[in-house]
Amino acid sequence: MSKQAIVPKAGAAIDLKKFDPAYTGDYDKESAKEETAKLQERFTELQEMLYAQGKQTLLIILQAMDAGGKDSTIKKVFEPINPQGVYVYGFKAPTGEELGHDYLWRVHRRTPPKGFIGVFNRSHYEDVLVVRVNDLVPKDVWEKRYHQINEFERSLAENGTRILKFYLHISKEEQKQRFEERLADPTKHWKWNSGDLEVRKQWDDYMEAFEVALTKCNTKYAPWHIVPSNHKWYRNVVITKTIVDALEDMKVAFPEPEEGLDKIVIPD
Ligand code: AMP
Ligand code: MG
Repeated sequence: MSKQAIVPKAGAAIDLKKFDPAYTGDYDKESAKEETAKLQERFTELQEMLYAQGKQTLLIILQAMDAGGKDSTIKKVFEPINPQGVYVYGFKAPTGEELGHDYLWRVHRRTPPKGFIGVFNRSHYEDVLVVRVNDLVPKDVWEKRYHQINEFERSLAENGTRILKFYLHISKEEQKQRFEERLADPTKHWKWNSGDLEVRKQWDDYMEAFEVALTKCNTKYAPWHIVPSNHKWYRNVVITKTIVDALEDMKVAFPEPEEGLDKIVIPD
């Protein structure tokens, strides 16, 4: 069984059974939390430079089964980040207006502008996940979407957007526990949706749909990261590190200041 938070090789066939959702590397809860806090200091600096520079975009896509931790990742990983520079958007079942367009229309409208970090809580991948599992459109329609998604993401990447895609991998047992916690905690009841139980029944079909998406849409310019996510503290450190590494690689920096700032005297 593989032991990493993985960026599979582009084109390699993914078998999720080979990825342990409970993997935690060399971390324990305490060391992971410490490391996350340290990484977040750098994340804050880098985000400010990205915003100040205003030339590049970072798009983060989160996909997971229900209770996989998409909401809590956003809450925890982005906690110290200046909200002014972040766009978060959650994709629900398409509205009537959205269904009147091609499936990428609503997604492209939500991509962040230059200088911003965009976070997608679900995304166009729903159009090859829930849509595929439930035959919401005919097979010959969803089948062509993997290729269309790759071309869409390629176009974003070629126009200045760095794309990071995270699949939060939890076990079916972990989902059960999290559902039970939701039911036991009145402050979490708003998250309860009995429809999620129907989705749980389709677990194996979803795993297969994820494997196909992770295999076919794992490209150099928009890689998938498989994040063992049974342990929230491990998930958070892995995702924060991946984001910091990407921003470092993007070479974000403050823009050159106007000349002569040192000679400016502010009048009384
Ligand atoms: P939640 O993220 O818990 O608010 O749930 C959002 C719901 O919207 C999930 O059940 C998704 O499967 C559903 N959803 C998102 N995108 C699509 C889509 N393109 N087609 C159908 N259902 C979708
Ligand atoms: Mg839900």
